[in-house]
Amino acid sequence: MKLIFLGPPGAGKGTQAARIEAAYDIPQLSTGDMLRAAVAAGTEIGKQAKDIMARGDLVPDDVVVGIISERIEAADCANGFILDGFPRNLSQARALDGVLVEKGIDLDAVIELAVDPEILIARILKRAQESAQDSAQGPRDDDTEEALHHRLRVYEEQTAPVADFYAEKGILRTLDGMQEMDEVTQQIRSALEVI
Ligand code: AMP
Repeated sequence: MKLIFLGPPGAGKGTQAARIEAAYDIPQLSTGDMLRAAVAAGTEIGKQAKDIMARGDLVPDDVVVGIISERIEAADCANGFILDGFPRNLSQARALDGVLVEKGIDLDAVIELAVDPEILIARILKRAQESAQDSAQGPRDDDTEEALHHRLRVYEEQTAPVADFYAEKGILRTLDGMQEMDEVTQQIRSALEVI
């Protein structure tokens, strides 16, 4: 099963993708997690991405397309994968199309979690407070109120059109991300069962 999870920051994509990862034995490939790991490790990509991420802007397309193109070749993607946080704009979506055609891979579905922006802000600020209390993890640089508003704007302007791109291909499934977490998981599983 080859899937994309789409949704604004705080929509619960990461949590839901982790649940589907376990249920279907396919890895969750989060470009945000990979980039944070690169920043923490101080790699060239990490150095390039650090300030961009802290502001809530998108890192250059060629960086994330390169990361994903290489990652989906790994042995653990033989059964499929869940792209979480990628593609983030139309040019990434088109580049991904090219990569998939080249590798002979077909996407099965794009799951979009729709959430009211007011709820998102409250959710993310709560997450920021919780991780600020967790000394092991610490807060994310981009969970400040300012960066959060910027990330939501970037989502509206650049990422929301990606949903239309996949709707035209007939593989978009939009679900209500404001329900209880277990209910959202159930709806995703029901959507995947009919694929
Ligand atoms: P996330 O964990 O998905 O919220 O991503 C955190 C940050 O990583 C984003 O605000 C971007 O700065 C960067 N990022 C993650 N995925 C992408 C992507 N596909 N394209 C560009 N930047 C990304």
